[in-house]
Amino acid sequence: MTAGQTEILEPGKLWWNWFGEQNFVPRYLARPRTEDEVRQAVLKARELGLPVRASGRGHSNPPIVATPGVHIDFSQFREVVSVDEQKLQVTVQPGITVGDLSRFLRTKKMSLNNQGDIDTQSICGAISTGTHGAGITLPCLAAQVISARIVTAEGTFLDMSPDENSELFRAFKSSLGMFGIVVSLTLQAIPSYNIHKRSWNADLDECIDGLHPRLRDNRTFWFFWLPHARSAELFVLPDGLPSTASRDNDICHMRTYNAVPVDEPPPALAPGEEYDHSSVIFPNPYEPNFREMEYTVPFGNFEETFGEIRHLILTKYPEEAFPVESRPVKSDDSYISPFSERDGYAIGVSGAPQPSTWALLRDVDAIFERHDGRPHWGKHHFMTPARLERLFPRYDAFKRLRKELDADGLFLNDHLRGLFG
Ligand SMILES: Cc1cc2nc3c(=O)[nH]c(=O)nc-3n(C[C@H](O)[C@H](O)[C@H](O)COP(=O)(O)OP(=O)(O)OC[C@H]3O[C@@H](n4cnc5c(N)ncnc54)[C@H](O)[C@@H]3O)c2cc1C
Repeated sequence: MTAGQTEILEPGKLWWNWFGEQNFVPRYLARPRTEDEVRQAVLKARELGLPVRASGRGHSNPPIVATPGVHIDFSQFREVVSVDEQKLQVTVQPGITVGDLSRFLRTKKMSLNNQGDIDTQSICGAISTGTHGAGITLPCLAAQVISARIVTAEGTFLDMSPDENSELFRAFKSSLGMFGIVVSLTLQAIPSYNIHKRSWNADLDECIDGLHPRLRDNRTFWFFWLPHARSAELFVLPDGLPSTASRDNDICHMRTYNAVPVDEPPPALAPGEEYDHSSVIFPNPYEPNFREMEYTVPFGNFEETFGEIRHLILTKYPEEAFPVESRPVKSDDSYISPFSERDGYAIGVSGAPQPSTWALLRDVDAIFERHDGRPHWGKHHFMTPARLERLFPRYDAFKRLRKELDADGLFLNDHLRGLFG
């Protein structure tokens, strides 16, 4: 054992994110198995004068996990703690993956109200970054959290819910681990449902002309714009779908998801349709072959913003082939989620993980800035404090609460200090 090392802290190990874009070597690593071990790790870090950051499954693009101090790895802190089958509520450890939680809920005749595109991220990582799915009536995953327990910078447990520390709870819901280290989360689930999924390709005009009726008539409608004939394969989108497209580039891959109670008989399926439990239909395969930026514009700004991005890519970056993903999301009451008190349209723009992609992302960022785009905290962005102040009415309140909880910045790193310090 080296000087300062304790049982709860092991020597730090090299950590990489899923994309292979971010890495760091912390001084110490903690792999807690109990809430008290998390508390011990925070207390030891304080004693040693070292900062602390937690990781879920490392599926975020920006350096929101990195720390030179103590890295708390939650990949093994991942059990279901309790379930209330009457109230459809479940309490979990923060490291459980969205998929494991979703599959567990299925065994109890429940489902998550909504999920994102993958289910391999941790539930805590997903709620901390404002991760979302699609649907004009469906808010981000953080809105499904009804209470949480954290270890504060003082090394004490703090419980939060709409009835207890309610303002803190709202601000906490999308807070990138800056309020404290999460040790448990309780979520509100809904009765189990199957999803009837339909996927097809069509020309862009058909997609945009039918956008609002499709948003209204389906629980979920979203689409990927495919600028290039190679686009679909880059995001592992299915081929052989029904298609009315008149060409193989500048087209849309569209999807509708509609919920059906699990006791109803399955429908007859046409080509391009699937039917299964929500936990099976939501996740999609992805390869770590991209670098992504996603901003959310006010719902009404979508068509204009999307049109400008399409024009930019077709005229200035005609070889950029990654799909552009567009998803509507309902507002929530958190302080800094991209949907904080504002219905939004999330637009994800990706490129290959190579330096030239930054030029594209910078140009798209300028478009988003003109349309009040708010960043996805788990994807690349070019935010500054001045921009955040303009975009989030509760930015100052968020910073004040953060400082009240953690005056010394125990839970900050350089990236976060620059934005919220
Ligand atoms: C292929 C792919 C598909 C994706 N699809 C979607 C999608 O459909 N919709 C969407 O919105 N996003 C999507 N994302 C983004 C992804 O959901 C987020 O980046 C999410 O945060 C990743 O979760 P994670 O467990 O990997 O968290 P990490 O990246 O490990 O951590 C995220 C944040 O949570 C904090 N954190 C984690 N655990 C704790 C804890 N116990 N206490 C305190 N803080 C903690 C970390 O410090 C960090 O700040 C996708 C990402 C990938 C790679």
